[in-house]
Amino acid sequence: MSFLPAVAPRREPGGPAWWLAFSGERLLARLAPSSATVPLLTDGLEAFGLHPVRTQFLGWLDQRPCFSAELPDDTVPPEGWTFQGLRRLFGVLEDDLYSVAVRAKQIVFWDRTHQYCGQCGISTLSMEDERARTCPSCGLASFPRLSPAVIVAVTRGDELLLARAQRFPQGFYSVLAGYVEPGETLEECVAREVREEVGIEVRNIRYFGSQSWPFPHSLMVAFTAEHAGGDIRPDPTEIADAGWFKRDGLPWIPEKISIARRLIDWFVEAGE
Ligand SMILES: [Zn+2]
Repeated sequence: MSFLPAVAPRREPGGPAWWLAFSGERLLARLAPSSATVPLLTDGLEAFGLHPVRTQFLGWLDQRPCFSAELPDDTVPPEGWTFQGLRRLFGVLEDDLYSVAVRAKQIVFWDRTHQYCGQCGISTLSMEDERARTCPSCGLASFPRLSPAVIVAVTRGDELLLARAQRFPQGFYSVLAGYVEPGETLEECVAREVREEVGIEVRNIRYFGSQSWPFPHSLMVAFTAEHAGGDIRPDPTEIADAGWFKRDGLPWIPEKISIARRLIDWFVEAGE
């Protein structure tokens, strides 16, 4: 299936539509033993017994219209349906629908938090041809917010740098990550984060891939890099422990949902 994003339907969206409806952070879904689905409705959410605060048109998934919706926090799901976190639905909801849900979650969040102008406080208006809200008084335009973050697999020969952040559970390690600062390139951010968190220098910073991470609106940009100098000295405010790990001695690491795991899998496969 292919998804075609759009801000407004250019033709009347007839037939059934996919609804990505959120109550708080959680998506309305129906779970089966090893799969899940979201509502495919011909007459919208109201006819399904739900009363959205606001809705957004997202685009077309294989010619089928897709909408997102914000439901009140105390919404009781229809019989047989539940509200589920997106992490729970990864690998369970079909991949194309999952990526529309990732998009939907961020647009619902953005719409909810940009109802008023950040500059003068007036109610904003939705733009017709662009995913933006503008202020009718001062003209300030607000677009969906994306927060780029880098994530990096640093290697030293046949070893990988993994760290346990202070907020991680005991025994859980991952690659280093951090938010990009204003004015910084992605490569500068990689070098700074590694230096700040574990006190080493890196070289050969190479782009690896990226992932939309809707918790709540990150874009994870992944890199690989090589150790260039220095010994590990963890910053105790952020990092509880860090070290070099060999392929056959990896600790508890992130699950398949994250690009962190793809980086670690890349390291493991490079040794095969
Ligand atoms: Zn304004």
